[in-house]
Amino acid sequence: MVAMIIKPKVRGFVCVTAHPEGCAAHVQEWIDCVKSRGPIKSGPRKVLVIGASTGYGLASRITAGFGSGAATLGIFFERPSEEGRNATPGWYNTIAFTKAARAAGLYAKNLNGDAFSDDIKKQALDLIRADLGQVDLVVYSLASPRRTHPKTAAVHKSVLKPIGQSYTNKTVDTDKGVVSTVTIEPANEQEIADTTAVMGGEDWEMWMNALSESKLLAPGAQSVAYSYIGPEVTWAIYKNGTIGLAKNDLERAARNIDSLLKLNGGDRAFISVNKALVTQASSAIPVVPLYISILYKLMKAAGTHEGCIEQIQRLFATQMFNGHTPKFDEAGRVRIDDWEMRPEIQSAVKRIWPDVTTETLAAETDIAGYRTEFLKLFGFGLPGVNYEAETEPHRPML
Ligand code: NAD
Repeated sequence: MVAMIIKPKVRGFVCVTAHPEGCAAHVQEWIDCVKSRGPIKSGPRKVLVIGASTGYGLASRITAGFGSGAATLGIFFERPSEEGRNATPGWYNTIAFTKAARAAGLYAKNLNGDAFSDDIKKQALDLIRADLGQVDLVVYSLASPRRTHPKTAAVHKSVLKPIGQSYTNKTVDTDKGVVSTVTIEPANEQEIADTTAVMGGEDWEMWMNALSESKLLAPGAQSVAYSYIGPEVTWAIYKNGTIGLAKNDLERAARNIDSLLKLNGGDRAFISVNKALVTQASSAIPVVPLYISILYKLMKAAGTHEGCIEQIQRLFATQMFNGHTPKFDEAGRVRIDDWEMRPEIQSAVKRIWPDVTTETLAAETDIAGYRTEFLKLFGFGLPGVNYEAETEPHRPML
């Protein structure tokens, strides 16, 4: 036991420390949010969440558990705690979720390891077979910088780059509050292929094929994966960049998985396009954090701001369950980014964008809100947590 005082240590776009009680308080806020919105009728009963420990995946797990009373199996890849050394936040988030779920009488089990590997898939299938029989919802919410391909053993690294030509735009160092101009050189063919190998749909298909072959998908089963489109100002780096091509491949996979499910008595697979939010994944993308800081200010003023938990609660309650069926756009995607993309919000972003400088950052954007949210991801700044007290960083997984 080496109890210690844990403070944030921000290094660029990551914080290398995480606070166990703070992460637990954050998870509790999300649980309370879902509970306050009432039960989601005819919701999922047995859910596999791949990428379950932070961001949109954690929000999906909490919504399934506390909105619909679902049993959940969570897969994630977090650094465990050690004697005298904190874990990554998803580790503490998962412990907090699991305690709360079990206290509420819900089944919750966890697998920490590489979801891209055959080994973790096998462990997950064995657990589902033994404990749940079948699953009726699979949420695919991985965000990873690399993937070791299970068949070729090749290591693919994803990049966030434009395609075809270099891209120059404003960006913000969210820690220092400095706005600067960044130029990103275009990706080469290998980088484009690698990014699709990591963030595209092949692995989601592998999961769904493995579940289907093992007869572990319940009649009426659904699967959803998450994507982003966003405004023109970010298209060169996002929608039309390497990550956007990978997301196109995720859409291709959604169509295949949808057919697979329909052939086997399942219901549907689809992509939900979600709102831009502060997560560990999005903070690593150039330009996007500046856009998010402007967006937060505008959406808070309009009364339409949502976090991951509000987004996924709305997805489940108004599109997937509760007597609803998804409303698809022309490309067959659910658009839970609808409030972000409202014309009045986007025209205001366009108007503000040219005026943002280091000097005007605080006034023109919600950089303060961005920072608050960023620190919360690591369990800092939560009300009711005594950050001056020593705490034990080494916590066993449940
Ligand atoms: P996140 O970084 O908060 O979560 C990623 C999750 O994946 C974590 O649970 C992590 O442990 C897990 N993970 C990463 N590599 C893994 C591996 N090899 N094996 C097992 N688990 C692994 O990310 P997020 O922002 O919630 O992103 C989730 C999805 O939502 C992504 O597809 C992302 O593109 C999409 N999305 C994000 C945003 C946004 O603004 N953050 C917007 C729309 C869509």
